[in-house]
Amino acid sequence: MTADTHLTAADHHPESAHPESARPETLAVHAPQPEIRGSRPLGVPIHQNHVFAFDSADALAEAFGSPDEFLYSRMGNPTVRALETAVARLEGGADALSYASGMGAINGVLLALLSSGGHVVAQRCLYGGTYALLTDLAARWGVEVTYVSGTDADEVRAALRPGTAQRPGTALLYLETIANPTTRVSDLPALIAVAREAGVPTVVDNTFASPLLCRPIPSYGADVVVHSATKYLAGHADVLGGIAVFRDTALHRRVRHYAVEQGAVTDPFAAWLTLRGLQTLPLRVERQSASAADLAARLAAHPAVAAVRHPALASHPDHTIAARLLPRGGGGVVSLDLAGGREAGKAFVEAVRLASLSVSLGDVKTLVMHPASTSHRQLDEPALAAAGIGPGTVRLSVGIEHVEDLWADLEQALAKAL
Ligand SMILES: *Cc1c(COP(=O)(O)O)cnc(C)c1O
Repeated sequence: MTADTHLTAADHHPESAHPESARPETLAVHAPQPEIRGSRPLGVPIHQNHVFAFDSADALAEAFGSPDEFLYSRMGNPTVRALETAVARLEGGADALSYASGMGAINGVLLALLSSGGHVVAQRCLYGGTYALLTDLAARWGVEVTYVSGTDADEVRAALRPGTAQRPGTALLYLETIANPTTRVSDLPALIAVAREAGVPTVVDNTFASPLLCRPIPSYGADVVVHSATKYLAGHADVLGGIAVFRDTALHRRVRHYAVEQGAVTDPFAAWLTLRGLQTLPLRVERQSASAADLAARLAAHPAVAAVRHPALASHPDHTIAARLLPRGGGGVVSLDLAGGREAGKAFVEAVRLASLSVSLGDVKTLVMHPASTSHRQLDEPALAAAGIGPGTVRLSVGIEHVEDLWADLEQALAKAL
C-alpha cells in the first residue's frame, strides 16, 4: 500500500478496482477480495454471502433458473450446491436439493408433486412429522392417503389408482427404508416395482439407513430419496438439514421450481457443517451398525428385556428382506421392549449415564428414548400397539463410543428397570 488511507488500483482484484482517492467510508465497505492463484481451498469454503455481483446484465439474466449459477442464495449458493452434489453422488441420483430441515425436504417434495384432491399411498408406520403433514394435507387440501403395511406388493397394487375425469390418480408412493421406532424394513424392490409399472413415482425416506447401507435410486428404481440430514449425514448434533435426491433431472427441475418459491433453503454455514459431517459418514455408520448389532444380541439375552428389534437379528420380522437390502449392516437404531412395561421404560431412560435421554438419532453420541412417555404420550395403548410401540418400548440410537462402555451403561440401567 502506498498510503494509509488510499488504495491503488494494483492493491485490488481487477474486478473490484476503486478510484485511488477512495475515502474511509468507501474503503470500509469495499474490502478487496484476494484472488487465489496457484492453489485452491482443500475443503469447501463457506460462501455466507446471500447475493452475487455480475459484470454484465446479460450474464445476470442468464443466471436465473440454473442450479449451477449463483445470483441470490435462495436460488442457489456454492456451499449448498457442493452439499447437494455430494449427497446426489452418494445416493446415486442425478441431482439433489438441500433444505433447512428434513421436514422442509419432505414438505417441499410432497407439495411439489401433489395438487389438491391428489392421492398418496404411504406406509402406515411413518415418521411422526410426515404422518402429521399427510394428515394436515388431507384435512386442508383434500389430499387422500391410503395407508399400507410396507411389506405387501399386492396391497400397494390394490391401493394405487388411475386418474379419471372426476379425480386425480395416485401422485406418489411414500416409503421409509427402516421405520421408526419399530425398525421394520420395507420391501423396497417389490413395492417400487409395482409403482413403476403404474407410472407412479416413489419417494423413500432413507434417513435411518443412510446411503452407506441402502441406495434406493440405483438399486431399486426409487424416484426421490429424502433425508433428515440432521441425523446420520451431519451426525454431530449441531445442525438441522434436509436433502431430497432425484433419479432424473426433469423431476429435480420440477421440485426445484417449487423449492425456490417455498424458500426453506439451507443456510451456507449449516451446509458446511453437514459437508464436514459427511466426510466421516462411512466410518460412523459402519461403527454404529456393528455396535448396534452387538448390543442388540446382548440385550436379547438379558432377563429385563422381553423383545429386541434390529434388522441384523435373525429374529427380526423382516430379517430376510433386511439381509438383501442392508448387507452392510442394519443401522444404528435398536428398539427393545422392557419386560417391566411403562415404569421400566421410564426408569431405564432416566438411569442411563453415558447415553443421553434425547429425541434425535444418528448422532456420534448414544441416545435413548421411551416413546410411550414422551414422543407418543398422547396415544392410548391400542393406538400405541397399532404404531408397533409397547408401553415398555425403548429406542436406542447407538453412537460411536466404545461398545464395552456402552454395554456397561446399558447393563447398569437395565438393573434399575427390572
Ligand atoms: C428426524 C426425521 C425427519 C425430520 O427431519 P428434521 O430434520 O427433524 O426436520 C424425517 N424423517 C425421519 C425418518 C426422521 O428421523
